[in-house]
Amino acid sequence: MLIELNKDNISDLIQKAYENREIKVYYQPKFNALNGKIKGAEALARWQMSDGVVISPGMFIPLLEDLGLIVELDWYIFRETCRFIAEELKAGRKMVMISTNFSRLHAREAGFAERLSKTADSFGVPRKYLEVEITESALALEGVDIIDFVKSIKDAGFAISIDDFGSGLSSLNFVKDVPADELKIDKSLLSHNCENEKERIVLEAIFEFAHRLNMTTVAEGVETKEQLGFLRTCGCELIQGFLFARPMPEEDFREALISSTKETETEDILLIQSSTTASQLLLNAVFKAFPLVIMSNLSRNSFYMMAYENFSTRSCPSTGVYTELIVHGASTMYPDDQKLFSDTFDINDQIAAYERGERTRRVVTRQLGDDGIYRPVETTNYYMKNPDSDDILAITLSRAIDN
Ligand code: C2E
Ligand code: CA
Ligand code: CA
Repeated sequence: MLIELNKDNISDLIQKAYENREIKVYYQPKFNALNGKIKGAEALARWQMSDGVVISPGMFIPLLEDLGLIVELDWYIFRETCRFIAEELKAGRKMVMISTNFSRLHAREAGFAERLSKTADSFGVPRKYLEVEITESALALEGVDIIDFVKSIKDAGFAISIDDFGSGLSSLNFVKDVPADELKIDKSLLSHNCENEKERIVLEAIFEFAHRLNMTTVAEGVETKEQLGFLRTCGCELIQGFLFARPMPEEDFREALISSTKETETEDILLIQSSTTASQLLLNAVFKAFPLVIMSNLSRNSFYMMAYENFSTRSCPSTGVYTELIVHGASTMYPDDQKLFSDTFDINDQIAAYERGERTRRVVTRQLGDDGIYRPVETTNYYMKNPDSDDILAITLSRAIDN
């Protein structure tokens, strides 16, 4: 960019940008956490300069906020979103609900809900395709009855999402009184591998809380398979993040939607009874009882850790060489228990035992927690043969037990 944006020039430059249609909407899909289908999207502002350079909102939104000009941008993005939805519906293409960010300054805007309605109606867009995202920081705006504000939006028929939940000083108490439909869990709550015990406890509590209030949960900023795996065990419904898709221009989003919804109708019916859903339900139930589940192929000396929590799994990879996993596992145990553990799960001994007819093996060892305290942990292996390859497989279920 040639000109540096600042408080003195932004007002003029953004006006010209609207006129020259340089302000674009990028759409980032929200995916169903179980089947990977696009279930919604978020509209995000981009400034595409005449030379093609695209500027992220981080560069201009704080300036617009300071000057109160953000209100105008939000309405512009909302209108563009309505225009896009209307065009797609008119062309007979499938659409999903799209959320638009509204700065907390709108809570002070008289007749906000009416303006939303008028705008949607002027484009002929049904309410079910439109959602308003407000940040949790808006919930505590001084001198504003935020509950009334949110109610007026809901009463007008729009869905409402609380954005950036967990990023600031959120009060669970406040959220319980706000009739929002969706809670977006801020990306700052998710570490790279979701491997910290305390972080997991906090996240689980948030999901439990949101579900009990009948709110749909969205995890933002999901970048890794490990995060996805953990979020699934929490029952998180929607995933938004680079792991699945980055924010994209209108044309690309249209394509993404077309390929995602191709077989949706039949698949939605199948989903109710499909074995994948059943397996997922079963897995979720298993994870509740056994926070550590490992699938291993003993014949190939490999493993895949499917979920783990309330355990010390520091520095333990989620997939790798089985014998290394056992060495690592033993190293986190009480010294007197290490040999018992290594012997019980010796790979060759287990394979030989399977051939002799042994189908399960269980051991209790003392395991070091993140808090530095040893606790008894029960580890049980179940063996079976892969009928296709003759490989011997083991499923490990592990849980802490009372003394
Ligand atoms: P936000 O509302 O929390 O939007 C999500 C941001 O996270 C987006 O940044 C998105 O690109 C980014 N993101 C999504 N997935 C990932 C991921 O996996 N990893 C990482 N590291 N980031 C991810 P973006 O588009 O740069 O927007 C930044 C912020 O600017 C937004 O945060 C929102 O607060 C604000 N913003 C954007 N457009 C608008 C708008 O039209 N109106 C208002 N009021 N604010 C907007
Ligand atoms: Ca947002
Ligand atoms: Ca957010």
